[in-house]
Amino acid sequence: MKSTEPVRVAVNIRPLLTSEGCTDCITVTPDEPQVHIGSHTFTYDLVFGNNGLPFSEIYHRCVAPLVEDLFKGYNATILAYGQTASGKSYTMGTNCGADGGGIIPKVMEDVFTRVEAVKSQIRISFLEIYNEEIYDLLAASKPSRAPIRIRETNSGEITLQGVTEVQVKTKEEMSSYLARGSSTRATGITNMNIQSSRSHAIFTISVKITTAEETLCAKIRLVDLAGSERANRTGADGIRLKEGRHINSSLLALGNVIKILGGNERNKKKGVCHIPYRVSKLTRLLQDSLGGNSKTVMIACVSPAITDVEETLSTLRYANYAR
Ligand code: ADP
Repeated sequence: MKSTEPVRVAVNIRPLLTSEGCTDCITVTPDEPQVHIGSHTFTYDLVFGNNGLPFSEIYHRCVAPLVEDLFKGYNATILAYGQTASGKSYTMGTNCGADGGGIIPKVMEDVFTRVEAVKSQIRISFLEIYNEEIYDLLAASKPSRAPIRIRETNSGEITLQGVTEVQVKTKEEMSSYLARGSSTRATGITNMNIQSSRSHAIFTISVKITTAEETLCAKIRLVDLAGSERANRTGADGIRLKEGRHINSSLLALGNVIKILGGNERNKKKGVCHIPYRVSKLTRLLQDSLGGNSKTVMIACVSPAITDVEETLSTLRYANYAR
C-alpha cells in the first residue's frame, strides 16, 4: 500500500471480550489484508487484529506518515468508524486513562517531538456533532452549548464561528484538553452500552511552523465517529431514533465523499469533479482536511463476536464501498 494515496482504508478487529463468551465469526488470510466472514471476502489496505497485523502497529502504519506530512504543510483526517463497542475509542485513544496505546496520545507525542526542532505554534479544538449541530467541547461555560455555525471563505477555507482554539505548549496540556472535552461529550443510554456515543467527536491539532523562508500551516483531524449500528438494534425510542437517523445520514454522506476522493484520479479522467461535502455537517466540517492535497485514513472497527455478525458485515461493506 502506498502512503501517497489520498484515501486508505484499514480494518481493526478487536479481540473477543471475556464477557461475550461466544465464538469468532471473522478470519484473516495470513499475510494479506483480507478478511472472511460467512461466505463474504473483503480486501482492504491494512488489517489489524485477529491474524492480521498487531494493533501495536496501527500508529506506525496508518498515522505516522500523515503526521510527517503535517510538518510539510499537508492536512490530514483519521476516522474511526464502527458500531458501538467495536473499539473506536480504544483505537483513537479518546477514552482517556485506558492505556491501549491509541492513536491520539501517540500523535501528541510525535507532534511535540517534532516541534522541538522548529519554531512553531500548536493550537487545538475539540468539537462534536450531535443531531446535525456542531458543539464546542472546550467551551468554558454551559451557555456556550449553543451550536456553532460553519462559514466558508472565498478561498474555500472552512471557518467555525466562535470556536474555542487553545494554544498548547506541552503534550500534558494537550492531553488535559482531550480529557476535558471527552467528559463533556454527549452520551446516550442505549441497550447496547450505556457509554455509547451518539455524537461524532472531532479533535483537531493545527500546527504553524515558521522558518526563515516560509510559514506553513496545516491541521490533522482525529475523528471518533458515532456508533454506526442501526436504530432498531438498540431498541430506539423517539429521541434515539432521531439521533440514529442523523448518524446514518451523516455516515452515508461521509462514505460517499470518501469514495469519490479515493477514486479521484479515475473521476478526473471521466470529468467528474463534484464532491458532495454540503450534504452533512460532518463532511462540511471536514471539507478542508478531506480531499485536495489532504490524506485520509479510515479505520473500520469491528467486533469478531458471532452475536455482532450483522453489524460487522455492515461495517465491512461500508469500508469496502468507501475504498
Ligand atoms: P467503541 O468506542 O466503539 O464504543 P470501545 O473503544 O469502548 O468501543 O471498545 C470496546 C472494547 O474493546 C473495550 O473494552 C476495549 O478495551 C476493547 N479492546 C480491547 N482490545 C482492543 C483492540 N485491540 N482494539 C479495539 N478495542 C479493543
